[in-house]
Amino acid sequence: MSQIIVPQNFETKTADAVVIGGGIVGTATAFWLSRAGMKTILIEKRDGLSTLTTTVSAECFRTQFTEASMADIALPSVEMFENFNEIIGIPDIDIHMTQRGYLFVTDHESQVPDLEKALEKYESLGIPGSELLTGDDLHKRFPFLAPQTIAATFNNRDGWLSTHETTYGFAKGAKDADFYIKTLATGIQVDSQGVAGVETDKGFISTRLVVNCAGPYARQVGRMAGMDLPFRTVKRQKAFIRTDYAGLPKDAPFTVDLVNHAYWRPEAGGLLCAWVDPDEPETPPSDELPTDWDFAAESIHRCSRLHPFFEPVADDLKAEDIHVSAGQYVYTPDDKPVIGPSGEIKGFHLNCGYWCGVMMSPEAGKRVADLATGKMDNKDNPLRFSRFAEGLAEKGDTFLK
Ligand SMILES: Cc1cc2nc3c(=O)[nH]c(=O)nc-3n(C[C@H](O)[C@H](O)[C@H](O)COP(=O)(O)OP(=O)(O)OC[C@H]3O[C@@H](n4cnc5c(N)ncnc54)[C@H](O)[C@@H]3O)c2cc1C
Repeated sequence: MSQIIVPQNFETKTADAVVIGGGIVGTATAFWLSRAGMKTILIEKRDGLSTLTTTVSAECFRTQFTEASMADIALPSVEMFENFNEIIGIPDIDIHMTQRGYLFVTDHESQVPDLEKALEKYESLGIPGSELLTGDDLHKRFPFLAPQTIAATFNNRDGWLSTHETTYGFAKGAKDADFYIKTLATGIQVDSQGVAGVETDKGFISTRLVVNCAGPYARQVGRMAGMDLPFRTVKRQKAFIRTDYAGLPKDAPFTVDLVNHAYWRPEAGGLLCAWVDPDEPETPPSDELPTDWDFAAESIHRCSRLHPFFEPVADDLKAEDIHVSAGQYVYTPDDKPVIGPSGEIKGFHLNCGYWCGVMMSPEAGKRVADLATGKMDNKDNPLRFSRFAEGLAEKGDTFLK
């Protein structure tokens, strides 16, 4: 049985594994560690699971990755979302899977070869169902696009879900795991054998395995173990726009303008929209991120370029119809997460460094457990931390990150 509790102060507890961080990544990790037979304690400083970055995400998942190491995690993760109830062993949880696809669009001739190359990559990586759409075909399938749009890649299997239900589904489906909320990890004890335990504001937890799933705070948690993780945290925002505009294409996919990095998708009661500013500066990890007053207007303006229906939506908007939220992406030197043993401190493992942690969480959590139990050799794990020291890290060309 798993339980979510606010623990009383304690002297010492013992666990086979401690996971630091109760976002979707940490919770999926605790699920898989517990399913591998380890008594697991997850500690989360906030007053609930899935309340920091995970809760502000656009909640989307995709199979369209051009790098093998990312597709290796993304594809089985989508399969797990599709079979979620069976995997967690609870029939009546609804994670609200909506598989309407990701559509990457452009109106620039110069980007068409990039789309063609991406499609070839998807095919060579065994990602099924991706299509290159051009001309009339594209406009017949997606009539809401502006006439100048010339090409897109599309995969109908991509989509979005409820991160809250998914996170709590992993927690409920865990075996022999305790989820301690309102519990702050303050230190990591290390002895001659490696990790010896985690200090928290409630007491000490003795363990030989700690997994750092602290999201934007992963670098800080790394320092507790004496490591300097090469991560950058960057603010990202999204806007919910309430609208009942009759011309809104409610069945549209998650659609990305590859020219100006804007994206949108339908959402109950309206739509979500955002843009990813490539020049957004690094900011320190924070639980209290201010939103930018002009973010919604800028996102709508950018989305309206290839989506004319945004103009009548904008004409009718009142301030109370707009809600902007902010969180942080974490970027590693090659924009890919780090998964598995840190290599530097025995028993200190990582599952962090994400800009895409929602969509990667199921398989990444499983990989942590497979590596910890010896089911997978870290040499066969391309997302191992030591890839940076080995000179194997390479920035890929996956769209929108
Ligand atoms: C605007 C926006 C849109 C996004 N859209 C998507 C999307 O569509 N799809 C997608 O896959 N990703 C998306 N992302 C990224 C995604 O949200 C993150 O990659 C993902 O939520 C990371 O999950 P996590 O569990 O690692 O981190 P978090 O959800 O941040 O969880 C980490 C937890 O660790 C806890 N913690 C930290 N330090 C300590 C400590 N010392 N002791 C105890 N607890 C601690 C924190 O309180 C926090 O709850 C988006 C992000 C943003 C900001």
